[in-house]
Amino acid sequence: MSPSVHQTADEQPAIGSHSNSEKYADVNWDELGFSLIETDFMYVMKCSIGESFQSGSIAPFGNLELSPCCTLLNYGQGLFEGLKAYRKEDGKVQLFRPEQNALRMQTGAERLCMPSPSVEQFLHAVKQTVIANKRWVPPPGRGSMYIRPLLMGMGPALGLGPSPNYMFLVFASPVGDYYDKGGKSMNLLVEDKHRRASPGGTGSIKTVANYSPVLNAQARAKAQGFSDVLFLDAATGKYIEEVSACNIFIVKDKVISTPETAGTILPGITRKSIIQLALMLGYKVEERLIPVEELLDADEVFCTGTAVVVTPVSSVTHQGRRVEYKQSQGETPVNKKLCKTLTGIQMGRIDDKMGWMVQVD
Ligand SMILES: *Cc1c(COP(=O)(O)O)cnc(C)c1O
Repeated sequence: MSPSVHQTADEQPAIGSHSNSEKYADVNWDELGFSLIETDFMYVMKCSIGESFQSGSIAPFGNLELSPCCTLLNYGQGLFEGLKAYRKEDGKVQLFRPEQNALRMQTGAERLCMPSPSVEQFLHAVKQTVIANKRWVPPPGRGSMYIRPLLMGMGPALGLGPSPNYMFLVFASPVGDYYDKGGKSMNLLVEDKHRRASPGGTGSIKTVANYSPVLNAQARAKAQGFSDVLFLDAATGKYIEEVSACNIFIVKDKVISTPETAGTILPGITRKSIIQLALMLGYKVEERLIPVEELLDADEVFCTGTAVVVTPVSSVTHQGRRVEYKQSQGETPVNKKLCKTLTGIQMGRIDDKMGWMVQVD
């Protein structure tokens, strides 16, 4: 592999003191977790209400200036996305299904009365962000670059109404495993006090207001030693929906089931991909209502998301009853097979027959 110098497009401003030609940033790649490591650049694009985004540019990573009265801070008029870039053995970097994130942001923007970037603009911004920060993309197999696009109401509105202007911003950070090393499985507590999303609400879009309402339940669960909480449906409290920031699947007699996304569940791109891969591998997959009882009676339970990828659940606790999911002797769990296939495609080790990967450079 020859260390190549990457020109960062037409929009590239003068680069600061560091040399962009060095292959890797000074990071201990073996210590990567899921906390922010600031990288060199971010991408910024602005527009006013009633107009559409035109063009943006790469800027040094740094703080933003915004009105204390802006709709993002005051009314939660904002969306986020999350996707990853992977460095392959040949040194090239690829993205996993980024157009899906662009489309999801468009759906969310419509719900929150915001203009949104086109799929092409979104892709361009993500690619520019990765190219400009390429030295922060971990070596093959040692982690990935987490990319965080944001769409925000930056202007003031005191009386309730949408912001007069908007910013689309993309930043990135190298990441490793979401859960601490060694503990790559989850112990879930079924939350029966708080609900995450209600019918007709915003549970199916990635609003910036999605996570703060789950912090209290999560803190209570963590204080009792659990990894995270599993939420039940708001209408009846009988059916499982999803974990704070990832989707859930159960396996029973080789049939894979996951709650249907009917407005209160975030339609995860990992969820959708796992369903497609499972069907391809010959499994039966059902998207439907899943009563808590079925979860407790499952052979296998696992969670999916960009951050957690595919993480097995080792126990679920519901109203004081703890159920452990035991691995049957000598058989590879369904979640392991799916995880291996998915990560193989993402890292370029398995042929991408689905056409999911997008080359960055
Ligand atoms: C982002 C998110 C997910 C996972 O979606 P992916 O596209 O797979 O990363 C699941 N649930 C919630 C609430 C989320 O915000």
